[in-house]
Amino acid sequence: MTNADQDSWSRVRDRLRAELGEDVYSSWFARMDLEAIDEGTVRMSVPTRFLKSWIQSHYAERVLACWQAEANTVGRIELIVRSAVLRSAVTKPKAEEPAINGAHYLNGQVRPLAAGDAGAHEALGGSPLDARLTFDTFVVGRSNTLAHAAAKQVAAAKRGDPVMFNPLYIHAGVGLGKTHLLQAITWAGNAAGERKVLYLTAEKFMYGFVSALRTQTALAFKEALRGIGVLVIDDLQFLQGKSTQAEFCHTLNALIDAGRQVVIASDRPPSDLESLDDRVRSRLAGGLVVEMGSLGEELRFEILKARVMAARQHHPGFDVPLPVLSYIAKTVTHNGRDLEGALNRLLAHNKLTGHAVTLEMAEREVRDLIRPQEPKRVKIEDIQRVVARQYNVSRSDLLSSRRTANVVRPRQVAMYLAKTLTLRSLPEIGRRFGGRDHTTVLHAVRKIEGLVGNDMALAEEIEILKRQLQE
Ligand code: ADP
Ligand code: MG
Repeated sequence: MTNADQDSWSRVRDRLRAELGEDVYSSWFARMDLEAIDEGTVRMSVPTRFLKSWIQSHYAERVLACWQAEANTVGRIELIVRSAVLRSAVTKPKAEEPAINGAHYLNGQVRPLAAGDAGAHEALGGSPLDARLTFDTFVVGRSNTLAHAAAKQVAAAKRGDPVMFNPLYIHAGVGLGKTHLLQAITWAGNAAGERKVLYLTAEKFMYGFVSALRTQTALAFKEALRGIGVLVIDDLQFLQGKSTQAEFCHTLNALIDAGRQVVIASDRPPSDLESLDDRVRSRLAGGLVVEMGSLGEELRFEILKARVMAARQHHPGFDVPLPVLSYIAKTVTHNGRDLEGALNRLLAHNKLTGHAVTLEMAEREVRDLIRPQEPKRVKIEDIQRVVARQYNVSRSDLLSSRRTANVVRPRQVAMYLAKTLTLRSLPEIGRRFGGRDHTTVLHAVRKIEGLVGNDMALAEEIEILKRQLQE
């Protein structure tokens, strides 16, 4: 390859970047390399099959056009997967690598996937759905009004409607109804038949991707993705592994850029998804982020009432007096799963012994489900806000690199609180404090630990801060 070739390549990249925007460019083309230019054919490589097929089907013409604008002798482009290049040095080059030919694509010969293609759906590994988790059985209360409204709106949207918030990102603690809401969207959306909704747990997503890449069905996978109107991913916090995350990022960008809806649930806000890189995090935060709070007593009561009604369809004799429901709603505060568990026990007891459900029986049966109040989830943002207020500095002072004493101490206190009140790691805390190193955080934590032993006033200050944060 000549220097002139390399120069052309760098100009082609500039063109692509200018035409497609930095975001799209860095998602798809940052890892594309020029391999050779040979008799009018430009050969380029990418590291994964997924990237290859995505670029082929979405950007082939564009890439070719950019080349032709630089060098009018270029007639066609060819895209290969880099690992295949290495292998071909040992074995024979694979003749089956399909070339991208501008004319071919212009003729529109890419087979579009019919929606509902079962084979393709299988390739994606849609997760099983629970028939009970629908909008009909979802009880709306203060803590979930907004999430519910957003979910409804997503489920009701028609093909071609402008996408209002993308992605829709719902976060809440365990058992507060995330999966329920996501599956409700899936049921409702698919029943309406407007847009195909695919529900995947993060694990299924990983499995689908990884296996699709390994079994060389990237093309089928990509085609199937194109048939999806709404992609729903549950428990995003479980998404792990660098390459999986890179593919997740591509999928997210591609779907959003194509105007498809993405819905995500996680047990924490985007800013707390430690292992994801900043670009993905900001993309996730760029739609609508909604938190569902803990279920209030009233909502717990309504959920229980609805559950009893549902149970009575199968067990007509099952009767739970209202005082018993109030008692459970008041005492079983943990989450929706425990509410369900409590009712199941009453039902089992009632069925097996034939005894009517009474308050005494309920007290006995659910005793172990009554847990002490869960400590509140403390967020680093809240710590920064409360500490800044206490010491009369601004939050940006805490994050800044300023080293004056009136900022250094509050900053150390805040880092110390972040370490003791949250489960965040030292590097994560450092990142959230203006991109500091984890050793800086460790130093701050040790410093404060050392001081509170002798400095009563500081110890008390910290106690007060802790109480404010945990109430
Ligand atoms: P998460 O996915 O947030 O951990 P789930 O959606 O699995 O929680 O909910 C746990 C249980 O609580 C499920 O049985 C669910 O149906 C029930 N539940 C939670 N919130 C509600 C609600 N608002 N209305 C009805 N049931 C609910
Ligand atoms: Mg769940």
